[in-house]
Amino acid sequence: MTGFYRSKYTPAATPAAASTLASDASHYMLSTFFEPGYARMALPCFDEPNLKSTFDLAIEIPEDQVALSNMPVKKITPVVDKQNRVLVTFERSPIMSTYLLAWAVGDFEYAEALTDRLYSGRPLPVRVYTTRGLKHQTQWALQHATKFIDYFSEIFGVDYPLPKSDILAVHEFSSGAMENWGLVTYRVSAILFDEQTSEERFRDRIAYVVAHELAHQWFGNLVTMDWWDDLWLNEGFATWAGWLAVAHVHPDWEFWTRFVNEGMQSAFEADSIRASHPILVQVGNDSAVSQLFDLINYRKGASIIRMLASHIGLNTFLDGISLYLRRHAYGNAVTDNLWDALSEVSKVEVRDFVEPWIQNMGFPVASIEENENQITVRQARFLSTGDVTLEDDTTVWWLPLSLEDVSDKRNTSSITLTQKQHTFNVNKEFYIINTNAIGFYKVHYPPERLSIIASQLDRLSTEDKIYIISSAADMAFAGFSNTATFLDLLKAFANETHYRVIKQALDSIHVVRSIFYYDHAIKKGLDKYILRLIDKNLTLCGWDTRPGEDYNTTLTRSQLLLAAGISGHPR
Ligand SMILES: [Zn+2]
Repeated sequence: MTGFYRSKYTPAATPAAASTLASDASHYMLSTFFEPGYARMALPCFDEPNLKSTFDLAIEIPEDQVALSNMPVKKITPVVDKQNRVLVTFERSPIMSTYLLAWAVGDFEYAEALTDRLYSGRPLPVRVYTTRGLKHQTQWALQHATKFIDYFSEIFGVDYPLPKSDILAVHEFSSGAMENWGLVTYRVSAILFDEQTSEERFRDRIAYVVAHELAHQWFGNLVTMDWWDDLWLNEGFATWAGWLAVAHVHPDWEFWTRFVNEGMQSAFEADSIRASHPILVQVGNDSAVSQLFDLINYRKGASIIRMLASHIGLNTFLDGISLYLRRHAYGNAVTDNLWDALSEVSKVEVRDFVEPWIQNMGFPVASIEENENQITVRQARFLSTGDVTLEDDTTVWWLPLSLEDVSDKRNTSSITLTQKQHTFNVNKEFYIINTNAIGFYKVHYPPERLSIIASQLDRLSTEDKIYIISSAADMAFAGFSNTATFLDLLKAFANETHYRVIKQALDSIHVVRSIFYYDHAIKKGLDKYILRLIDKNLTLCGWDTRPGEDYNTTLTRSQLLLAAGISGHPR
């Protein structure tokens, strides 16, 4: 499914346009997928991201078919001597990379919405195209696309650069979506939502993927990485901006809380193995490039951007992004260009703190040792296997400690660890580090401190709770502490009702349970423990869906029932 290819589908409506490609009951549509190096399969070209060009495209098609490309149609003219054939000519594209070029032909229909903001004096037309008979499933994506285009134009300080924005649902597609400039292509399940039959959980997935791909229209398409080494500039940023945009449009979804629970956690897992790789890597050929589309580039990249944006302040960060986009518009850039713009705007040399995160693999655990009224924080690389050697542990990371304690009137974001270890004053009645899980690292508290924190849960944010549970589980898993310490901490969460906290607790306990998979006595004990832990919540949620219940309850119940099933609940 690369280059210019055909996708097979079962038509949702008949009759189809007469000249639709078909064999037996199946129909076909045609579309392209060029990233990273597949444009050369469809046309002769210098197929590298920094060899940009304008494109003039014309496609000859049967007159009852629809042709789409990056730019709007300029004219449609009959083809001399060929009956029922037309030549569709598109407007000239702006200067752009070959991997973002796209076209499609098929028996398409569309729904259109206009943005609220004006672009060159007019609202921007946004369309979602499908094969015939699926148009009614486009509304959810369409509503979001218009909002995201306006939001990004606003926060990036650069208007959406093309005269239209199309989305196309493609029936056979190898990834989730592809950000072709002005014609974003999606696998059907990542874009279409049937209000009658689709599962609720697809709503947030679709909203997120639409936001991610639209963020690329600026980050990647308007300003493109110079070479694939800097792929994280595209993917880490689009991931971060995708979460930001969904959190803006749906504050009730608590998307950043979810990021701590799912996004960051999956990045930690990928990066806690010895054979991980740095965000910034040198790649030569295209097959190596394809391997870079992974959790490290997307989710660790997004986590580092979140940490940086939080440290210098979101508005300052966005001002820096705006400067970067304006300075390199229609051109290419390397990671250094981003640091230049951010440093210029924030008046802080951001390289000093982000470079260790970008250039080295892995992340640290911050281990805490308590003395009288002080704590000593020591950083070392974290491996889930717990067997870090001196050779593994050569990086000194910049750690925003976000130290919060009861007496805290300090600007917590300014307290950082820039050496292997340092001692800080704290009020030991209450303190935590890495408040709201902003930093991409784990924390190892002494067991006595975890017990104290367990009795102070009302002082923690939801993100704090998720983070403390996942850190404690990782410490037990890697042998820094024991399972009993972790299970003691979890007992304090028996009254917790937030879905994300419950999910983190159950995810973590299943990891611990997996260690004892072959020890039946311990496994049985853990099952009993899990059933006791979820008992109260299960009674609260009930076993069956109730009419009109909120989304959080539905999600929580499915999580609890899954845990109940795995742990052998008698019912
Ligand atoms: Zn992407």
